[in-house]
Amino acid sequence: MPTLAIRNVMLLDGTGDTARAGSSVHVTDGRIGWVGDASAEPQDVTVDRVIDGTGRTLLPGFIDSHVHLCADPERPGRYDPLRVSTERLAMEVLSHAQDALRAGVTTLADCGGRDYVTLDVRDAILAGSVLGPRIMTTGLGISITGGHFHWYSIEADDVAELRKATRTLVKRGVDFIKLFGTGGGSTMGSNPALAQYTVEEFRTVIEEAERGGIRVTTHVHGTPGIRNAVEAGIHRLEHVQFFDAEGDIRFDAELARQILDAGIPISLGMAKRWRTEQAIEGFLTPRQLQQRDLRDKRIQVLRNFREAGVKLVASTDAGMTMTPFDDLPYLMSFLTSEISMTIPEVVHSVTGRAATALGIDADHGTIEVGKLADLVLADGDVSAGLDPLFGELDVFRAGRRLVHRGRLTGPATRHATNATDREAP
Ligand SMILES: [Zn+2]
Repeated sequence: MPTLAIRNVMLLDGTGDTARAGSSVHVTDGRIGWVGDASAEPQDVTVDRVIDGTGRTLLPGFIDSHVHLCADPERPGRYDPLRVSTERLAMEVLSHAQDALRAGVTTLADCGGRDYVTLDVRDAILAGSVLGPRIMTTGLGISITGGHFHWYSIEADDVAELRKATRTLVKRGVDFIKLFGTGGGSTMGSNPALAQYTVEEFRTVIEEAERGGIRVTTHVHGTPGIRNAVEAGIHRLEHVQFFDAEGDIRFDAELARQILDAGIPISLGMAKRWRTEQAIEGFLTPRQLQQRDLRDKRIQVLRNFREAGVKLVASTDAGMTMTPFDDLPYLMSFLTSEISMTIPEVVHSVTGRAATALGIDADHGTIEVGKLADLVLADGDVSAGLDPLFGELDVFRAGRRLVHRGRLTGPATRHATNATDREAP
């Protein structure tokens, strides 16, 4: 079993602990074999390859737990799913996934797309046919007839239809279920403020998913939908804006307390537009001004959640509303400045905490002995500021360097048996 040693790095291990300078890590057989102070490196291990990490920071591979790989980040609003063939779309999905990989994202959770294209790309990456991050996917979402994201969903309107839809997705081999619990901004005619499903209907989906050994997450903007999902015992929540009936944002402290007590993680699914409106101040339409007001209120909601101790998971909603797939480090930076997350905390939110939220923490999320060596190596000291994450990264998945200095290393294919690891000096 060849061993790679990455020596003398600044280590942010994804547990939320503060960074440790002068650390070293051994990677054997794709997993973390040892981690500790460089001076205590075991001498009885034969090291085959060494990367000198002096002046660099080592972090766990990032997890973006809310993206839409089938959607086109260059196009505002609703994506036209009939624009390209399914075959072409598969290539777009792969290209989007590789954009995320270059930004340090080694695991993506796809929250709804067309047909089952994301499953095929997931499987091709796993088989080693093409190079990309690990993909977990819902395949299609579940929504009401004409409801939010219906063009990327199975439409289901009552308990029997929800049971059928969930069983269909489990049968198809999806990794989790994404239920659209309220309407959303990108679907004309859907209502973000109101619940799309009752408590009983949420419960049906959760029961059927659990039977299939997978979890359920739900898109929820409006407070009634959040309440139904929480009461039904949802595993994860997306967005959680607290829209009231008038479309205004009103923090519900009691419901936040229930989310905290139940330990339900909130994946932010926070598209780029929540960050950028300030940049065009002075050129805003009344509609945009109202949106800006909503954005300020949403940020206050996030501050309230953080102060209460709710488990926030930074995720981008990439693909939607002009959000590119390499957006996660930008969102991390935004959260440190706007809601005062510390650097170890924001790293934890996209690594250890995200892995727990997705149920993959046995193998992923932190740099600890036994876990898969999904790693990011950045030039500079990330513990002093996130800027190094915007540079050219090295990215490893299960111990293999897939990105070197910001470039995909290839060849990915399992057929290229003569391909040696393209190690630069
Ligand atoms: Zn989304």
